[in-house]
Amino acid sequence: MFNKILIANRGEIACRVIRTAQRLGISTVAVYSDADRDALHVTMADEAVHIGAAPSRESYLLGDKVIEAALRTGAQAIHPGYGFLSENADFCNRCKQEKLVFIGPPVGAIEAMGSKSAAKQIMEKAGVPLVPGYHGDDQSPALLKQASDEMGYPVLLKATAGGGGKGMRQVWSADEFDEALAAAKRESLNAFGDDRMLVEKYLTQPRHVEIQVFCDQQGNAVYLFERDCSVQRRHQKVIEEAPAPGMHEALRQQMGEAAIRAAQAIDYEGAGTVEFLLDSDGSFYFMEMNTRLQVEHPVTEMITGQDLVEWQLRVASGEPLPLQQQELRIHGHAFEARVYAEDPDNDFLPVTGTLSFLQPPVNSQHVRVDSGVRQGDEVSVFYDPMIAKLIVWDEDRDRALSRLTRALGEYRISGMTTNLEFLYNLANCQPFRDADLDTGFIDKHHAAIFLDGEERLGQDLPLAALYLVLRQQQSAEQSAGHSRDPSSPWHNTDGWRLNAPSQQDFTLLLHEQAYPLTVEQRRSGAGCGYRITGSDATYCSDARGVLEGNQLRANLDGYQLNATVSEHDGIISLYTANNAISFRLQKPDLGDQDSDQNAGGLSAPMNGTIVTLLVEPGSEVAKGDALLVMEAMKMEHSIRAPADGRVVSFFYNSGDLVDGGSELVEFETNPA
Ligand code: ADP
Repeated sequence: MFNKILIANRGEIACRVIRTAQRLGISTVAVYSDADRDALHVTMADEAVHIGAAPSRESYLLGDKVIEAALRTGAQAIHPGYGFLSENADFCNRCKQEKLVFIGPPVGAIEAMGSKSAAKQIMEKAGVPLVPGYHGDDQSPALLKQASDEMGYPVLLKATAGGGGKGMRQVWSADEFDEALAAAKRESLNAFGDDRMLVEKYLTQPRHVEIQVFCDQQGNAVYLFERDCSVQRRHQKVIEEAPAPGMHEALRQQMGEAAIRAAQAIDYEGAGTVEFLLDSDGSFYFMEMNTRLQVEHPVTEMITGQDLVEWQLRVASGEPLPLQQQELRIHGHAFEARVYAEDPDNDFLPVTGTLSFLQPPVNSQHVRVDSGVRQGDEVSVFYDPMIAKLIVWDEDRDRALSRLTRALGEYRISGMTTNLEFLYNLANCQPFRDADLDTGFIDKHHAAIFLDGEERLGQDLPLAALYLVLRQQQSAEQSAGHSRDPSSPWHNTDGWRLNAPSQQDFTLLLHEQAYPLTVEQRRSGAGCGYRITGSDATYCSDARGVLEGNQLRANLDGYQLNATVSEHDGIISLYTANNAISFRLQKPDLGDQDSDQNAGGLSAPMNGTIVTLLVEPGSEVAKGDALLVMEAMKMEHSIRAPADGRVVSFFYNSGDLVDGGSELVEFETNPA
């Protein structure tokens, strides 16, 4: 076994690898960029080496710097994590030249899986089922079309050099074919400098089921069962689970053995994942093999009781696999939800900010939080905006799902928009409970997941208003407590007024909307409650509550609920078992013009490429109109008008690379 390893990564995966290394008594070396000087992975490691500037192409992607750091610190092996250098054949080769162990597969296996069509040819020979289609060298458009016609529509065009969904087009009928082919080729040439295509039968309701495989240097191979990753947004996984719901033992074994054939066909070593599409009739087809540890590996760890990073370290140091196939068992059910700094209501646009309040659910036998950040840390424009992975386990799917929703409800994050509410609603919706899964799940069940803001106002507004009056009362009581005459009528905090119920007006800003509210204190036989009304509705006739520290116990017309409160930067968040509400209190309009109202400027949420400009400079636009599309983190994002106004100019053209934080648009807001 190694004495010292270097982890060529950052964030949660770097921390994850360090934890296992520490448990095994292996010293660890972290690498870090300017942006990560104080990052958690740096403080956790025994040593850390600075390797460059914040953008990853100037630090974490610089193989030479990483190797230099390993040689300098005397590390014997490099764990690449996922992303960055993990599937980079050149880097793997360079490690070998320097006699450093690359904790991953041999370079030949990475190369073999680098091209989708070459990978398919290898898999075909190994007898691994493929999606029906054409993946040959003859690229003449007529031949591609003929192959599609014979297969029958719909078909899917894929760039052979593809990844991240780029250069991929669905074709629903023969007359759409030529146009779709031209578009997919253009996109692929732009993204990969290569426009070769393959054609596949497009499966309309498949599931994404992948098999975890492990191979050692002695030629042993096992599969650690499957993960279902069908719940995806833009072909990116959101919630994964293991085992796959409805999986039969016979199919599991067939898929597992096919995955092992796939791995052995490329002389695999270490951890790998073979991704399949599983059709509704039980047929399954090879999609690709990822030659690294996957983000979602913890669900496999939870159901098998194994530590896959430990397996990686053992195998890379030359030990045989810790267990054989017949010794592996599935126990219980696990889910993983990826908690992101992003705005699900705005096309999942990544957001940045400071984690001003961060309270994950408590780790236990059932709940595991893999994270690389602490309260006070920054989610910056430079890296993936994932805050944490929330992993839960229990004896069966229903119980594990209850654990998941409960843990999501307990997760407290302030300082930026996150997808917690979206995850909560997704995990809680009936089709997900019923495991009615396929890769179109989120689109199909959009209405159940994206609850209309209006539907929740009936509870959210009175709860927020109740909190505000109780907080006001509390601070009045505190100042009375400090006074020399606490019993002075001027310190009376029960809001009593002669002949009239006491009344207060607030305007709350919730989901970007202003809600004027009136809170009236009413006395009745059983103490005092509040009536909370909006401009044209009564939200609650009798709201009562107790505020102790950051815990609010509320009773809204006889419905009892608890909330945890956090207040930061003027944003008040109330976390209940059902959802999180974040709002601000609108300041009274004192007539002073907010100067940044008119200051133009919309900036890139992160490093990326401008895909298209959607309006002409000089155009008048309405709030929310999409102005341009940029691509970052494998996804396209629309940048939208923050208010009604005029686009004065764009600072970039389509195809330009932009750094996160760069101003993109000069924008003038219409005078109110
Ligand atoms: P990329 O490498 O660009 O991410 P993949 O080949 O891994 O592309 O496919 C990504 C996702 O696209 C899959 O998880 C699945 O949801 C969908 N997909 C891929 N191939 C097909 C197909 N033949 N039919 C239906 N959906 C597909």
